[in-house]
Amino acid sequence: MRLPASMRVFERGWLSANNILFIGRDQTTLVDSGYVTHAPQTLALVRHALGGLALDRIVNTHLHSDHCGGNAMLKESFGCRIAIPVAEADKVRAWDEEALSYRATGQQCARFTFDETVSAGEVLAMGDLSWQALGAPGHDPHALLFWCEEEGILISGDALWQNGFGVIFPELAGEPGFEEVRATLDLIATFRARLVIPGHGAPFTDVEAALQRAYGRLDYLAADPVRNAENGVKVLLKFLLLARRDIPLAEVEALFETVPLLVLARARFLPRPPAELARWAVRALEKAGAARLHGDVLVDA
Ligand SMILES: [Zn+2]
Repeated sequence: MRLPASMRVFERGWLSANNILFIGRDQTTLVDSGYVTHAPQTLALVRHALGGLALDRIVNTHLHSDHCGGNAMLKESFGCRIAIPVAEADKVRAWDEEALSYRATGQQCARFTFDETVSAGEVLAMGDLSWQALGAPGHDPHALLFWCEEEGILISGDALWQNGFGVIFPELAGEPGFEEVRATLDLIATFRARLVIPGHGAPFTDVEAALQRAYGRLDYLAADPVRNAENGVKVLLKFLLLARRDIPLAEVEALFETVPLLVLARARFLPRPPAELARWAVRALEKAGAARLHGDVLVDA
């Protein structure tokens, strides 16, 4: 994998999305800033890599909590500008946690302000390279991806991973998402990228194979929306477990009555009593090796 000299990728885990640092001749930019509880770690990584330079700007692919949770701390430390997808401007201005998905998912994000917006079609200079911003709806209706034609590199956010893509959240709430994911994959296929830097997981070059897996996954999910809902429930629970390390079983049950997106998914697609749904979700995470039970407590694994 060859990266341009002006570009560095910090591969993080699942709680924090990957960060991409660009050190250009006259401007430094960070794409995405991780989850709020990892913000000190993100700041340390960025500061170390900058080696005395300041961070001038953050650009967010989308505003899920694992992609912009370090915005506030980085801005406070560096006084950097923050650029967000244009469709999110009003929500961030008002810090509408409802519309920004943090309340719906039970996740947290430190409040930040923005200085610039990015629209689909716009070209951004990052690391002395030109990156075209393009709309990537599906996982998030307002997500952007960044495409560098001259280097053949795509920053895909959660629109394409080596193995699939992020949860199709809109469908959980009864909004369209499957066709949007398909259109976004079709768009990505036209690039013939040599390297994709995803929001989670290692950068990869076998883009054609990743696209085939993603189309296959989409077909599987779209054939029965209950599958998408079950996947959404598992991912949301695993995320809360990552953030908290452990959750008593009684609380897991309560999540299905209190976390709005889980309540919605349950009402629409998984009409089972909370206790039953909690038992199913716990078993599914155990089976996947993503959690284990210690007595009455679910522990991250
Ligand atoms: Zn996301």
